[in-house]
Amino acid sequence: MRDSIKYPQPIRIGVLGFGGLGQAAARVLAPKREMILVAAADKGGYAYSTEGLDAQACAAAYQSQGSVGYLEPAGTLSNNSIQDLLANNHAVDGYFLALPNLPNDFIPSVTKQFIQSGWRGVLVDAIKRTSAVEQLLEMKAQLQAAGITYMTGCGATPGLLTAAAALAAQSYAEIHSVVITFGVGIANWEAYRATVREDIGHMPGYTVEKARAMTDAEVEALLDKTNGVLTLENMEHADDVMLELAGIVERDRVTVGGVVDTRNPKKPLSTNVKVTGRTFEGKISTHTFTLGDETSMAANVCGPAFGYLKAGVQLHQRGIHGIFTAAEIMPQFVR
Ligand code: NAD
Repeated sequence: MRDSIKYPQPIRIGVLGFGGLGQAAARVLAPKREMILVAAADKGGYAYSTEGLDAQACAAAYQSQGSVGYLEPAGTLSNNSIQDLLANNHAVDGYFLALPNLPNDFIPSVTKQFIQSGWRGVLVDAIKRTSAVEQLLEMKAQLQAAGITYMTGCGATPGLLTAAAALAAQSYAEIHSVVITFGVGIANWEAYRATVREDIGHMPGYTVEKARAMTDAEVEALLDKTNGVLTLENMEHADDVMLELAGIVERDRVTVGGVVDTRNPKKPLSTNVKVTGRTFEGKISTHTFTLGDETSMAANVCGPAFGYLKAGVQLHQRGIHGIFTAAEIMPQFVR
């Protein structure tokens, strides 16, 4: 096979947040030749190695001792891990922000830290809320001035499914609706605490702040009432602003909902996006893109995140900085 673009050196990756998605991200990277995990951080510390971090060793330190900061000899314990990692000016080309966006401006505040640090490179997130993406979009000029290429909304939804909608839209002269329905099955909610808390924030009677303030026991009590299942409708999901910004469809025609089973790794329903529109001949039709049931949330978030990170590196190398969404750039496959 012909190589499109060759990297003389693998892209040096940092993963911020080492919970469910962060650990999965490290595993996704392990067999890759074009990317190497050199940095990882969580709430209690960080680890850095120019030679690369071992995903299994990082996960073992995190799971048995509570932080990648315990990793020998690469780890450092810190309650200010992101700031400390950045202060060391380590050579990292791109970071995946696998962080909780709790409160709703947390990832934008981390982005400000990156801008202030003088670091230049690519950032990618799998952020979900419209209002969070809007905060980041407002930082475009600062990101440009800082020499950062920021890829936002690059998980599964928003992310893979938004991009699929952008592609499906091409058959139509006019788009009538984009309906995203996701099914997530996880064996236990503790593996993805932030994801579950953020999902609770979408339920009637809850907010991001309310969900953030809930203790683990309160989350468990809520899940007990629903037999571990969260049913979500009309979620505030950035797929809408991303598709609007890409000029495809107005945001009020985009709807996102789903079912999350926190006690069973089997998906409660098949994740899909339906794009309905009118062709140039006047026919109304619907394209449906359905993810394989065997693919996990982690696979559908981390794969696209690194695909967009690779695309972001190509933009960055061409001097293109600022912020882009998953609906306007094609992800690149990482080998
Ligand atoms: P998690 O709760 O399992 O882990 C969060 C990690 O962040 C932990 O390692 C924690 O130590 C670390 N962390 C928290 N505060 C920190 C800080 N101040 N500094 C450094 N590290 C810190 O989270 P998760 O369930 O893996 O979710 C991560 C994010 O991914 C969430 O925001 C979630 O919404 C998002 N997500 C997106 C999609 C999508 O399709 N777009 C799907 C699933 C999850």
